[in-house]
Amino acid sequence: MVNPTRRTFLTTTAATATLLANGSGDAAPPLAPPDKQPPNLQLPEIVKKKVGIAVVGLGQLALEEVIPAFEHCKFARLAALVSGHLDKARHVARAVGLDPEEAVYSYERYEELKGNSNVDAIYIILPNSMHAEFTIRGFRCGKHVLCEKPMAVSSEECKQMIAAAKHAQRKLMIAYRLHYEPFNLEIMRMCREKELGAIRSIIATNSQDVAAPNIRLSKELRGGPLGDIGIYCLNATRYITDEEPTEVIAYEQANKSDPRFSEVPEGYSFTLAFPSGVVAHCGCNFASAVSRYLRIECEKGVIELDQAFSYRGQQLKIHTAEGIKRLTLTPVNHFAAEMDAFATAVLNDQRIKTPGEEGLADMIAIEAIERSAREGKRLRLS
Ligand code: NDP
Repeated sequence: MVNPTRRTFLTTTAATATLLANGSGDAAPPLAPPDKQPPNLQLPEIVKKKVGIAVVGLGQLALEEVIPAFEHCKFARLAALVSGHLDKARHVARAVGLDPEEAVYSYERYEELKGNSNVDAIYIILPNSMHAEFTIRGFRCGKHVLCEKPMAVSSEECKQMIAAAKHAQRKLMIAYRLHYEPFNLEIMRMCREKELGAIRSIIATNSQDVAAPNIRLSKELRGGPLGDIGIYCLNATRYITDEEPTEVIAYEQANKSDPRFSEVPEGYSFTLAFPSGVVAHCGCNFASAVSRYLRIECEKGVIELDQAFSYRGQQLKIHTAEGIKRLTLTPVNHFAAEMDAFATAVLNDQRIKTPGEEGLADMIAIEAIERSAREGKRLRLS
């Protein structure tokens, strides 16, 4: 065997490196020299400050959707947990890298958030009956509040929450996630710009099968299908028309033969009339296969959104005389988009897109829907 000289060794090594680099004998493309960068290199944004959020109530929505969504947030970070079950909360804290001793609070120690400068804001994910109380107490701690829908259990409570935010000079946002996701935003744009002419009618349904036990089936916790899922249909009719309903007629589906519905109705159907003449037919049901559907019938075409109110999987179709067009948009994580919008408004002291007034408007309509169903009457809304 011949001993390789330094020269033959270098030549052979370089040839092998080229071969390894491109899998053939061709020359590898030269690396970008340090003084030259590829033209469209995307550098990550430097975020100077993120809004620290305390999540209050560690139930299904918080654990399965909201807490995992922080990973996708640019401007919001999870800062603390408030729970009635401290073992669970400490476990979650450890799992997400928070200090279980410093970042976990019971409901009784909620006010101690005031002294935690790591927490800028609070996200209320409690049963509906607790939204107002914990929002108002949150403002007393000097924090901004993001509160789940329905905002509260009455328009009176909504007004108190709005007043508390004003008094504390803090932001109040209601977690209407669909105002921050591209498919519903595209529908809002198309309708505002009358891309298919004037809107004639809207059909919206949001139904699912709710298993007991569940906060949704409790009268005391102010569950029920209208505030839980019917509100999506109602809110959609308002953001599609950009109007407030002037008339309502509603029907309640009671089902006393099913023990799940001994305290709350099984469903509602309601028809809303708007000043421009649009009529919306809406329905929600707690004993149905999943159906989350929105159809907007316009002068020159029909907009159809399946999975309209789901966390993901929206499918948008536009029907016109020319045929059916499917719109593909890049989906986002709804909760990350919503929390980032909230955090951006807090950081830059900007207007909140879905403020307390948005929740109040829905609650006024919900009260009218319930009354119309109870009294069997068509009602006018001022
Ligand atoms: P869960 O029942 O799963 O969770 C509620 C949590 O609230 C409980 O886990 C508990 O947390 C806490 N809690 C405090 N007091 C009580 C009480 N007396 N009874 C029951 N729970 C209590 O409900 P969800 O997470 O599904 O819903 C919470 C809120 O979020 C509701 O207002 C709902 O409308 C809203 N929501 C919004 C959605 C959206 O897409 N925006 C989707 C789903 C829900 P702990 O053990 O930590 O104290």
